[in-house]
Amino acid sequence: MIYKENEIVKGTVDEIKEKEKTVKDWSIVETYISTISSRFVVNIDIGEDINASLRDMGILSGASRVYLFLFDKEQKVMNNTHEWCAEGISPQIQILQNLEFKMFSWWMKQIESGNIINISNLSDLPDEAKHTKEFLELQGVKSVLVYPLYVKGVSAGFIGFNNNLTTIKWSEEAFTILRISSQIIGKALERDIIEQMLKTSEEKQRLIIENIYDLISIIGLHFKFEYINENSLKNLLGYTSKEIIGRSCLDFVHPKDKDKTIESLTTGFRIGILTIEIRIRHKEGNWIWFECRGQTFTNKEGATNTLLISRDISDRKSAEKRYKSLFENSPNAIFLINFKGMVIDANSTTKKLFGYEKEEFKDKLISNLTNIFTQEVKHFFKLVFRASFSKDFPKPIEFQVKIKSGDLIWVILQASLIKQNKKTLIQFIFQDITEKKKGELITKKFKEELEVEVQKRTKELNDALEQQKLYLDQIVISSQIKTQFMATMSHELRTPLNAIIGFTDLLLEGVYGELNEEQIDFMNDIKSSAEHQFDMIKHILDISKIESGQLNLNIQKFLLNSMVEQIKSTLKPLYSKKNLEFEVKGLDEEKFVSADPIRFKEILINLLSNAIKFTLDGKITLIFKGDYYNWIFKVRDTGIGIANKDFPLIFKEFQRVESTFVRSVPGTGLGLSLTKRLIELHGGEISFFSVLGVGSTFTFNIPKELEGKTKLENN
Ligand code: ADP
Repeated sequence: MIYKENEIVKGTVDEIKEKEKTVKDWSIVETYISTISSRFVVNIDIGEDINASLRDMGILSGASRVYLFLFDKEQKVMNNTHEWCAEGISPQIQILQNLEFKMFSWWMKQIESGNIINISNLSDLPDEAKHTKEFLELQGVKSVLVYPLYVKGVSAGFIGFNNNLTTIKWSEEAFTILRISSQIIGKALERDIIEQMLKTSEEKQRLIIENIYDLISIIGLHFKFEYINENSLKNLLGYTSKEIIGRSCLDFVHPKDKDKTIESLTTGFRIGILTIEIRIRHKEGNWIWFECRGQTFTNKEGATNTLLISRDISDRKSAEKRYKSLFENSPNAIFLINFKGMVIDANSTTKKLFGYEKEEFKDKLISNLTNIFTQEVKHFFKLVFRASFSKDFPKPIEFQVKIKSGDLIWVILQASLIKQNKKTLIQFIFQDITEKKKGELITKKFKEELEVEVQKRTKELNDALEQQKLYLDQIVISSQIKTQFMATMSHELRTPLNAIIGFTDLLLEGVYGELNEEQIDFMNDIKSSAEHQFDMIKHILDISKIESGQLNLNIQKFLLNSMVEQIKSTLKPLYSKKNLEFEVKGLDEEKFVSADPIRFKEILINLLSNAIKFTLDGKITLIFKGDYYNWIFKVRDTGIGIANKDFPLIFKEFQRVESTFVRSVPGTGLGLSLTKRLIELHGGEISFFSVLGVGSTFTFNIPKELEGKTKLENN
């Protein structure tokens, strides 16, 4: 035993024996130290080595328990990571976990200050170590010796001995064992941590390289593959690294890209860096576009190698190809412009649209193309360049371009950003809208002209309406005056006529003495003139009443047959005198008609008396018919007829046909005019058909709906 129990030290031991023992003890310590040192030279399982060392330390020192505590990264808690217990001492490692520093402040202060904790008797502990004391007592600890442990110069834990059997004074050897063990274990831990770190970072790198999407390869002498990441190789090109390693990379490069690859790799070897876009053959034979970036480095053997990172750019290439075809085949002129405003490329439509060869635009600043673009466009360019960083492009603009022929065309210009060969460019698309503009201009001009015309017409119409209004006002006024005049004058005019007619009759009847033949002639003249005048006044009055809306019909249902009989007998003297036949058709049965009986009689009498008047011989026929809607009346004669040229006069007021015969018969030229108005007042219409020298037929209708009105009124 290398510790000396107090009792033993106190004097029962022989001095020589003691010295011998000391020499022996130190040699054991040295053996231990060389064992522990050799143990940690090669770190195979550091945990196992620590456990073996703790065991040796325990046996050597006679301690009840030997232990190693390590701190967590945050230096807040400690864990008992390894322990050795003498026989009969129960292990504590399970419970001595996650012990917070703050619970053992005195203890931690010692360790962090690099002090050795040497407690022979727990009662020696100061007050501030109260908690530590209780904690140790609970474990049955009597004496403690603890050494701080450093890893990479930082306090990382401690290593210690407990004696649970009795309080002891720790020997110098114990101190030495503990000090050296703590140093060796500290160093071993340090190395282990570094190795772990290295292992992790190597693992990380390996994982990164293996899982990276890009191909990562090392090209050595004669362009031979020395390394290539397996996963990407399989995914991108279908090969395994075995099929690749040791072969020249040129074996896999497209024949057309071979020269380019050789040149690039050779230059790369010289200048240290390279970038190249080439096609590489897939295991299945198809070609895949790759962008390869390389960096040369010198390997352990001193040879120059190239680390090549190759990215599959087939999507980009096909997009570029697609764009190229769209670009070339676009119906619009397209400029590709860099951020300096320089035209990098122009499609063939630019020639069609502007008349200039695309070379005339290429490598020119867009703002310098003043021969075709106006100031307005330059402003747009400025806005585009300014916005190109925010992508908030200005709205398309429409403007005129002076093309090579000197003509002006209209275009709409819109700008957008595109990626070309990894460069961001501004795309200007010019669409020819000349035809559309022309159309718009024509429409605009047409609209303007139309507007002027409409305004002109509206004014004319307004003037005309104004004029008409004045005229109508005048008519209304004059019509009112006329009506008023007629109403008041009718009495005044008709009274003397009645007197004249009455007195003439009396004179003709010989009431005042017999008249000679000449007197009778005069009297007859006076009478017929007065009757003519009377008729005229009556007609004029009726027409004016109709015109001023004052003539109201009194619709009644009456028996047409009896009405026709009355008319026939009234007219009999006239047609009999001329030996004319009078026939009525369609009235074999009783027929009822709804109309104003007085006015209806007037209509028929007017037409029939005209027929008699203008017929020299032959026949007058009154025909009655009815259809679903109307009663239809026809008055037919075999009279003088009416010439076509006179047709327009027939219904006009005061108009008579200019002929000797017409002049010879009495008439006012108002009869048909009034008749027409009266028929229309009933809702009907009148028309005629006539052949000069053959005869005339006047046809009119009275709507049956009047019947409804009658009934309604009657109800
Ligand atoms: P009036 O009979 O008083 O002359 P109307 O207005 O009744 O006036 O007729 C106008 C003119 O139409 C007549 O003067 C006559 O020239 C022509 N006219 C009317 N009815 C007939 C007819 N049945 N046959 C030939 N001419 C007619």
